[in-house]
Amino acid sequence: MKIAIIGAGASGLFLANLLEQNNIKYTIFDDGKIGRKILASGNGRCNISNLNLDKKYYHNNRLASILINKHKERLFNEFNKLNIYTKADNEGRLYPLSESSLSVLNALTKNIKLNVVNLHINKVSKKNNKYFLNDYNEAFDYVAIGIGSPSSYKQMLDYSILESLDLKFNKFKPSLTGFKLKENVKTISGVRAKATVSLLENDKLIHKEDGEIIFKDDGISGICIMNLSSYYNYTKEKNIKLIVSLVDKKYDSYITVLNPKLLDYVNKNNLDPMKLEFNIKSTYDFEFSQVSNGGIDLSSLNDNLSLKSDNHIFFMGEVIDCDGLCGGFNLSFAFLSAIEVSEVLINEISNK
Ligand SMILES: Cc1cc2nc3c(=O)[nH]c(=O)nc-3n(C[C@H](O)[C@H](O)[C@H](O)COP(=O)(O)OP(=O)(O)OC[C@H]3O[C@@H](n4cnc5c(N)ncnc54)[C@H](O)[C@@H]3O)c2cc1C
Repeated sequence: MKIAIIGAGASGLFLANLLEQNNIKYTIFDDGKIGRKILASGNGRCNISNLNLDKKYYHNNRLASILINKHKERLFNEFNKLNIYTKADNEGRLYPLSESSLSVLNALTKNIKLNVVNLHINKVSKKNNKYFLNDYNEAFDYVAIGIGSPSSYKQMLDYSILESLDLKFNKFKPSLTGFKLKENVKTISGVRAKATVSLLENDKLIHKEDGEIIFKDDGISGICIMNLSSYYNYTKEKNIKLIVSLVDKKYDSYITVLNPKLLDYVNKNNLDPMKLEFNIKSTYDFEFSQVSNGGIDLSSLNDNLSLKSDNHIFFMGEVIDCDGLCGGFNLSFAFLSAIEVSEVLINEISNK
């Protein structure tokens, strides 16, 4: 039995490790740099998971819920087996002790056969119950696809591989990113502040977050804003705004309360620091986003992550239309989905 893993990212590498531990043969295909997004994650520190994994941190969370309930404990055990020793911050975010993404990638690659075939796969075809990738000269019994999303890339990627399969796909949108604003915020570009930020659609509250905000030349970012961007993608109206509360009570003077540039902006525009209003033009592009909303529609997948139209083809990670907030939830989903796929494959292969 031979398995093709398409994508040497978080989910593909995790799956390869689990198959390796069970002496199952696999070939990995990738068209780019192995583990590129693992290296980029957590600003190079790799926020690998979260002690508080829960479906509430995910959009389209049906599968996330199943995978968390089934495999959460196993995920943390697998980290130990792979010698990925972690520490948690006070919000439950897990980081490797080294605080280095490179060390996580090294741990994920040290025990697997890294003869990755450097090939962009644009077609999966089936003949006599065997699977073929493009015109690559090898037949496979199962295909596991973990090709991620266009987030962090400058150019749109080619997903024609998905068109060769019978599935429903929802267009990718950049998520966990900043917002371009209609207001001119150039004078406060670079200013950071603590704030409570509310996202409103036609004046109805969609979501609220506390945290640090950072103004850009043409917009606003920061972790709380990034989380709000993932809710923004599910809004339908054009009238979407942010209400930024820089303070939670009135002061006689804000001179030592607000950053001087921010105070100047507030005064010049006659604004209330308890309730600054900004109108959203759009999110930033994929290049500046950490994940994407969209991907394979959950209705096309069985709970074991195989395709409903062909149960020898599996999907893992971000290419599935399920995305999490900041805090280690997206790498967790990639790893949890690899665990699920490995269990199905190991089970099927041992029964043959
Ligand atoms: C800047 C940044 C910071 C992040 N920080 C965090 C964090 O701290 N914590 C967290 O949980 N998440 C974080 N994320 C998100 C997380 O990295 C991703 O959700 C996760 O890596 C997705 O894993 P994956 O296996 O689905 O895809 P990926 O890791 O993206 O791997 C996909 C692989 O498939 C290959 N590929 C794509 N198409 C094809 C094809 N057609 N043929 C062959 N190969 C193909 C790609 O080259 C790539 O190597 C961050 C993302 C970014 C961009």
